[in-house]
Amino acid sequence: MSKIDTILAILGALMVLAMLAALGIVLGLAMAHDDGLAANEGRTTAERNPQIPGWTLLRRALAKRCPRCGQGRIFKSYFTMNHECPACGAILWPERGEWIGAFVIDWTATSGAALVTWLAMSLIFPNASESAVLSVVLASVVASLLIIIPWSRSLWTIFLYMAGASGEIRLQPR
Ligand SMILES: [Zn+2]
Repeated sequence: MSKIDTILAILGALMVLAMLAALGIVLGLAMAHDDGLAANEGRTTAERNPQIPGWTLLRRALAKRCPRCGQGRIFKSYFTMNHECPACGAILWPERGEWIGAFVIDWTATSGAALVTWLAMSLIFPNASESAVLSVVLASVVASLLIIIPWSRSLWTIFLYMAGASGEIRLQPR
């Protein structure tokens, strides 16, 4: 394959990847939205999620803070999420199928990183051995996974909140 063919093939693969990811995220949000509607039926107006502007939510996602109050941290350690916001008690992930959305983001980011790394390797080191290329690509997958996991969960928490599927405050203890 010539360099142009390689670049075009990778660009095509990235586009397919982006389309699949968009599809997965839309499906995940639709599921979350249905859950949110069902959950809202049993809530009083005061218990429902306050409307928060998208930019504020995005800022909170980047700061890895609770979408509802902006104070409590979403994570108790690098990889472990709090089930509820430590500041306001909002439930961050309702723990049904909602992790799928975060998984789609992880999967897209790691596949994208693998494709781009492979492209960069084939352009910069065209004579590198297959095992060398494979090692570098694998390393990029691991690295991108470690980097993306907190961000995908933080972003997905915000999406769930917007869909109304999370953010509920449990008024009485279980
Ligand atoms: Zn909170």
